[in-house]
Amino acid sequence: MNTVVQKYGGTSVKTIERMEHIADKVIHKINKGYNVVLVVSAMGKTTNRLIEMAKSISTNPSKRELDMLMSTGEQVSISLLSMILKERGYDSIALTGFQAGIMTEGIHTKNKITQVKIDNIKKHIKQGKVVVVAGFQGINETGDITTLGRGGSDTTAVALAAKLKCTCEIYTDVEGIYSIDPRVYPKARKLKYISYEEMMEMSSLGAKVMEPRSVELGNKYNVPIYVASSHKATKGTYIKEFDKFMEQKSITGLSLSENVLMITINNVPYSPKSISDVFGKLASEEVNIDMISQTSPREGYVNISFTTSKEDEEIIDRVINGLKKEINNIKIQKDTNITKISVIGMGMRHESGVASKVFKLFADHSIEFKQVTTSEISISYTIKSKDKERAISVLTKEFNL
Ligand code: ADP
Ligand code: ASP
Ligand code: MG
Repeated sequence: MNTVVQKYGGTSVKTIERMEHIADKVIHKINKGYNVVLVVSAMGKTTNRLIEMAKSISTNPSKRELDMLMSTGEQVSISLLSMILKERGYDSIALTGFQAGIMTEGIHTKNKITQVKIDNIKKHIKQGKVVVVAGFQGINETGDITTLGRGGSDTTAVALAAKLKCTCEIYTDVEGIYSIDPRVYPKARKLKYISYEEMMEMSSLGAKVMEPRSVELGNKYNVPIYVASSHKATKGTYIKEFDKFMEQKSITGLSLSENVLMITINNVPYSPKSISDVFGKLASEEVNIDMISQTSPREGYVNISFTTSKEDEEIIDRVINGLKKEINNIKIQKDTNITKISVIGMGMRHESGVASKVFKLFADHSIEFKQVTTSEISISYTIKSKDKERAISVLTKEFNL
């Protein structure tokens, strides 16, 4: 018998009624001859609410305890869904990350899966049960509960599918992968297929429909991933290896990230030591720096700008206060009204000139950009958030997205 992993996200398990609907879909799949392994997220916005509770106690709650707290969200969903299936006459078992064999390492709240001990799941599949696994969580070497970073249930699902050598179906609140977030741009086109590489790039540049590491795992273990709506029966999108039958366009998609904090440090002495001091301090606090730009030196001083994610704002404040004491006369500006907009496409590998097209478009429409970074298949620009709508409008028109 074939096995399939199906993952349902927060909105898809928001209420008992929605879980009943998932049970219908699972039973339909069983009747088609499949063993079903389910991975579910916490109900609705539960994880956000749990984090808010922790933050009402402390601005910097213990990360170990935060993992303990956040992991409870998924445990509510798996228990309820498993009860519903049993009530319908289908044997089922709810498993925590630990019981499902998800081993992790790293720092609390940002753990990575190191290994999946799949035997327990296999045993229950053999016994004809629907296995319902808590997404987003695992256990580390010291036996502590860990979580995999926001959106991590996708990663749990793909990791299990890799181990079970089967397809992973991701059911969510949109009908598939679109050229651009359909909530931001309702005229976006739904894609039939997208390559792992393009999806990885789109996700890591802001498209939260798939957690980036889940796509990375899919690529590594060649897991076929299908993304579709949890409540509509419309066709979704396949994420798979790039092949020549995929649409040949220079740009496949556009991603946006509002989670951008831009810091500008003015009057930094132009010496490798002071510049490396700035970034060294940030690195020692595990702050991830994204884009960096530096002005040319003037009278021995430069201005440095960099972007990072808004979640790191408190750490950044601490580092900045330290730097102010160490480097005389520096002036620091923080800007949160910044959007990162990126165009992504395998076509860029062979086609040059995409960047210059965008530069011209931005110039023609007076859209000022602060920084630019490129990879082999993407180009990203930071712009003022107030220019976002205009940038989306000109880019979607130019690249037919
Ligand atoms: P789930 O709770 O099911 O994991 P998420 O909220 O994490 O769902 O991801 C689904 C959301 O991703 C959609 O509601 C949509 O707004 C957003 N999204 C961003 N970029 C895209 C894209 N290119 N295609 C489809 N959805 C996208
Ligand atoms: N519940 C977790 C979150 O909100 C994991 C997930 O939804 O994938 O981030
Ligand atoms: Mg998600």
